[in-house]
Amino acid sequence: MSRARGRSSLPIVPAGVGEFREAGSETAEGWRSDQRGVRLVPTHCCFCGVQCGMYLKVDAEGRVFGVEPRDHDINKMKLCPKGVVAYQQVSHPDRLVTPLMRDRRGDPLRPVLWDVALDRVVSEIGRIQDAYGRDAFAVYSGSSLATEITYLAGKFARVALGTKHIDYNGRLCMVSAAAANKKAFGIDRAANPWADILHTQVIMVAGSNVAECFPVMTNYLWGARDRGAKLIVLDPRETPLARTADVFVPLRPGTDAAFLNGVLHVIERDGLLDETYIADHTVGWEAVRDIVRTYPPERVAEICGIEPSLVERVGALWGGAERAMAFHARGIEHQRLGVENALAVINLVLATGQLGAEGKGYGTITGQGNGQGGREHGQKADQLPGARDIEDPEHRAFIAEYWGIPEADLPHAGISAVELVHAFREGNVKGLLGLCNNPLVSMPNVDRIAADYDALEFHVQLDFFLSETSERADVVLPSAVWAEDAGVATNAEGRIVLRHKAADPPGEAKPDWWILCEIAGRLGHAERFAFDSVEGVFEELRGASAGGIADYSGVTYERLEETGGLFWPVPSEDHPGTPRLFEDGRFHFPDGRARFSPVEWGAPTESGDDEYPMVLTTGRTVAHFLSGNQTRRIGTLVEQTPRPWVEVHPSLGFVTGDPVRVVTRRGNITFPALVTDTIRPDTVFVPYHWAKRVAANLLTIDALHPISKIPEYKVCACRIEHGEAVDATSPPPQAPGSSIPAFEIVDDIGSPTSPQGRGTGQR
Ligand code: SF4
Repeated sequence: MSRARGRSSLPIVPAGVGEFREAGSETAEGWRSDQRGVRLVPTHCCFCGVQCGMYLKVDAEGRVFGVEPRDHDINKMKLCPKGVVAYQQVSHPDRLVTPLMRDRRGDPLRPVLWDVALDRVVSEIGRIQDAYGRDAFAVYSGSSLATEITYLAGKFARVALGTKHIDYNGRLCMVSAAAANKKAFGIDRAANPWADILHTQVIMVAGSNVAECFPVMTNYLWGARDRGAKLIVLDPRETPLARTADVFVPLRPGTDAAFLNGVLHVIERDGLLDETYIADHTVGWEAVRDIVRTYPPERVAEICGIEPSLVERVGALWGGAERAMAFHARGIEHQRLGVENALAVINLVLATGQLGAEGKGYGTITGQGNGQGGREHGQKADQLPGARDIEDPEHRAFIAEYWGIPEADLPHAGISAVELVHAFREGNVKGLLGLCNNPLVSMPNVDRIAADYDALEFHVQLDFFLSETSERADVVLPSAVWAEDAGVATNAEGRIVLRHKAADPPGEAKPDWWILCEIAGRLGHAERFAFDSVEGVFEELRGASAGGIADYSGVTYERLEETGGLFWPVPSEDHPGTPRLFEDGRFHFPDGRARFSPVEWGAPTESGDDEYPMVLTTGRTVAHFLSGNQTRRIGTLVEQTPRPWVEVHPSLGFVTGDPVRVVTRRGNITFPALVTDTIRPDTVFVPYHWAKRVAANLLTIDALHPISKIPEYKVCACRIEHGEAVDATSPPPQAPGSSIPAFEIVDDIGSPTSPQGRGTGQR
């Protein structure tokens, strides 16, 4: 790629995309002479949806050996504890460096040549599809992949395999927000660049432990507070961010919609609506008004387990603000009413006209690094590239023609991720290609998931570490980590950023696009998968997205490098991108109006009873990421947080370190207690990054939202009791020749790590 293009030929950088440090390929000034030959490769973090800019340090032999902060517009030199050690994955001794295969179930995996592994994969695909039909072979993908790979995964499933069954692990993360965005706005993207946060007066954060899950975003929130903005936090736990809030609402898990209806009740009652905005830009307000009138603060307080004054206070703050912004994440989305909760936030935003201007806005905070881009270009069960609808005849015709296949050969919608996995045992799905996921840790009711995977006749997994899921596969294909290839990602703002390649994959490992193209070629589709670089895939993606809602057609690698990032839609190469949506008051519907959606609160799938009187809620901690397959191998992160714990309120009579057994209808696990008054007395919290017998998802319920199909991770009924012994933390699975931080079977469990820093029962 050329790095010599002049800036002058590019359009003026739009609001929200400010200065960032020039991509560096030279040794920085002031470096010691013995560091000559060291390159700084500009890229972005592989972990969360903030997508902080960073430099990877590469030595003269081409080895990644460190990280440097980068003054990118997103993070202004800041990185969190995960970001500064992300590079340690690259040369990690656990990396998979050769294909692995087992001949029969129960045999160990053994190294094989690529040809042997690929021939086996192709032969099993053929056998299964001949015996059971094309839909009997499925693809389960992921949202930490570069957008190019997510596009290719969708094309691979529909063209090379001809199967309708492809879905992705964003189904476990962002789909409730996505469904709500589409329903209300007709477009699934955050409405503002985060630079707008600095200009708002009131911020509401609902169900997001920002300081631990998206640490660098905290900087925006605190920047706004420094300028006088008020912060409202809704969460059952007093998270580090909640501790700094002007109003903290410790509501009972699963009651968010009731609270948000109550806030809108107060706003409507007190005449704080933006009647003009409602009249000019929306439809459906009357139905919402009629419902929120039935949520007076006293009723809401009873449902949510809080004081009525909190409803009044939040209503007065939000309703009185000239500029306000709302953000939410998995806390309100991982519920039976996840879509409705997000819609209740949107109702609040629309009713007060808080959209389309600096400091006025709304956004969901995406969890995975490419949580936004990964849900745009066709790896979802019901989607085609450009955020097109796979059941829309025009959309189908456009993509079929673009891919050069008859429209009749383009499969229709498949089923969602958890349903797909259950279909291994209960349906007609017999074979699976998996990439970028670890459902043996991350899916709810994980014992059932393990039995589902065991029922597969053939399973091939692409991975760079041998995860709990990969270790059960029949074939494991070694893939590259993010630093070993270029690619784009779209962050939580909707900003497309470019990651550069810093090193070659180790050993025989290959980029994901190469692996998918090799398999497609051997299945007889070489001409449709004739890519020789990831940028080639991106060029095809641009055309496939043209005219769609998520239009990337005006994005090039060169433009991303020059600007530091472009916000989609970018419909032409002279278009500056769209940092802020809805500035003209028009939404993505034929009449241009946003949709209100009446939301009625309902109890979670499992409500407390005599046997299970409490609520279990799960989430993340700052040192680890999702299923832990990456972070459980990085020494400093393991040292910081070696094992899971259960947070319990002091009123329950435990002391920190006590073995506490958490029992749900799915199973029980004993964890060391972290006694803390930062959690409600009726609720316990367990982080979910660990595997096997301490996997929090052994306990969670696999109830799904009826539309988004997101699991209800955040609420299930439980009881707690004194345990007899604490389960030892299982070591991560060993890769051949691996070297992993040591874990010990502990008799003295000691005190669990507290990420909270305040409010423990022991002071
Ligand atoms: S905040 Fe997110 S993107 Fe930034 S360094 Fe941390 S994990 Fe990486």
